Amino acid sequence: MEQQSKIKQKLYTYLEFLKRQPKGFVYNSQQKQSISPTAKEKQLEQLKTTCKNCNKCPLFEQGRTQVVFGHGNPTARLMLIGEGPGRNEDKEGKPFIGRAGKLLTQILQAIGLKREDVYISNVVKCRPPNNRAPLPLESSTCMKLLLFKEMQIIQPKIICTLGATATCALLGSETRISRARGIFHQLQNTSVMPTYHPAYLLRNPHAKHDVWEDMKKIQTKLKE
Ligand code: SF4
Repeated sequence: MEQQSKIKQKLYTYLEFLKRQPKGFVYNSQQKQSISPTAKEKQLEQLKTTCKNCNKCPLFEQGRTQVVFGHGNPTARLMLIGEGPGRNEDKEGKPFIGRAGKLLTQILQAIGLKREDVYISNVVKCRPPNNRAPLPLESSTCMKLLLFKEMQIIQPKIICTLGATATCALLGSETRISRARGIFHQLQNTSVMPTYHPAYLLRNPHAKHDVWEDMKKIQTKLKE
């Protein structure tokens, strides 16, 4: 009897969770429309306001301080996508501001870009506990709800995925970062360059050379 009531409770919780799921918004870069910079800013603000208390995936109740929305230039030609907020980002409410964030700023400077020139976001917007990788359900829910919409508003020429989680989320779960990096992949009309995550570079400085090669390719493509 007790077992049955536990199963019922689990089923009820799961059904409640399913009810909160977003409708299937899918990124479509072929639907590129001309949106003015002011309209882009407004649309991003609206998205941010709508989702500031989001509870659509289990990460909402796993210790996050706040939803960490993407940040940067709404008319950026380069958009960078990481995995999810870490401790500093969760506290400050901005993506890529810890040690990995500082390294990312230096990487951008090396190809003549400032943080204000680009838009930076993450696959999930709430910090996973103990900085674990987001689970597939968390990633897909958050992407449908926010990331794809950010991409649709920004309409970047190039997306740079930072690390395995973002690369798999955009290019497919079978993608291996070590093989996919260094090459432009097409996501409809958008070019995607996977590279290593700055946090990985902090642990593995020997990989900096590869990232430098990837960034030079991005720099060349941005000039085309
Ligand atoms: S990770 Fe995304 S979908 Fe999940 S609660 Fe946070 S904002 Fe919502």
